[in-house]
Amino acid sequence: MVFIPRREKIYRETLPCEGMGKEIFGLLKQINDTFEEEGLPFNIMVKGGTSRGFVGERARLPAKKCAIATDLDLVLIHMLTLEKELKGKNIFRAAEIMQKALNGTLSNEDIETIRYKPGEVSGIPNTVRGVLLSRDMTVNETVITFKNGRLVLYYTDECLRDIRCGNGLLSTNNSTVVRPHVGRLTILPYGAARLIRFAVEDKAKFIYLPERDIEILWNEAHGKEPLGVYGLMLCHRYQDFSELQEKLMRILVSTGLTKEKSFIGYREKLKKEFFIKNGYEFQLRQRTFEEILHSRKNRMETQKIGRTFRKDDRDNCCHPETTEDRIENGPDMGYSVLHCKDCGFLRIKNKAGRELGMEALPSNRNLMDANIKALPDMGFFNIGKILGS
Ligand SMILES: [Zn+2]
Repeated sequence: MVFIPRREKIYRETLPCEGMGKEIFGLLKQINDTFEEEGLPFNIMVKGGTSRGFVGERARLPAKKCAIATDLDLVLIHMLTLEKELKGKNIFRAAEIMQKALNGTLSNEDIETIRYKPGEVSGIPNTVRGVLLSRDMTVNETVITFKNGRLVLYYTDECLRDIRCGNGLLSTNNSTVVRPHVGRLTILPYGAARLIRFAVEDKAKFIYLPERDIEILWNEAHGKEPLGVYGLMLCHRYQDFSELQEKLMRILVSTGLTKEKSFIGYREKLKKEFFIKNGYEFQLRQRTFEEILHSRKNRMETQKIGRTFRKDDRDNCCHPETTEDRIENGPDMGYSVLHCKDCGFLRIKNKAGRELGMEALPSNRNLMDANIKALPDMGFFNIGKILGS
């Protein structure tokens, strides 16, 4: 999903196979060698904490911030469609090999699967570009690939900037974390939960959660807790850690994401709301890799159909029923949002009446630039201040 076109400035460098690189090299080589021995057409990439650690070094952060994660987050790259991979079964063997190499620290849910995209542009393979520009947060826009016996680190400009500054910002083109709402990118419950998790776990010093977005979350929750099931997942994650529970509640209350004061109270309220909505108790169950792949395949098919419909609509639509909303306050004052009811097409009109893309809206631009000073609508939360540390 592309809401706002990106500059797509991507850095690439070969990592030396010593120090931090040595252990990763060994693990990736072991997995890759087994793939080759068994004739399995797969490749792997490292994402998440380990990759962020290397970018932290580039950002010249003190060593403790660059600490390498003990377990690797891996992306499995496959050549065929997920449908064909599911029939062929090779992909299950690949997952087994990865899990064995990592001594069971890699759960089924942790294995992301991505289809290989041929070709490259300016030295950046299209598969890498696709992964980097579809992350949930800017600080996650980094991967390490293993090819021809070399480790290569890739990261975007935004990733480097936000790791350097400690910014927790959602990526602007991931439809699980943000969506356009009257022209402005607004945070979804899952996106808010991601930011909270980064703050609780000390992975972000600042998070961007504008008041207006929180208001929208409350309105759309219709009197229930705005984070819903994602709040339950946070509670589950910290169920055995009382210190993190306290941090979670302080951050949730300070950002306005709940009015509950205690962890237990919050968790019980969410559980009750979940039961009323679904008719059964909330339970986190380990899904099999096959179940995960099936749900991924279904989700991708639904998205694809949605995209084709919208594109057809847009191409054939002359936008007869366009509404124009003038924004009366905040950083976007004086701008208008044009919205076609028939096809969902969105355009922005600036003060001079010129029609532009969504990136023209000052609040969207500020979000993209992480321009803290230009965001006077109190979107940035200083986590250190909230926690009094
Ligand atoms: Zn239209």
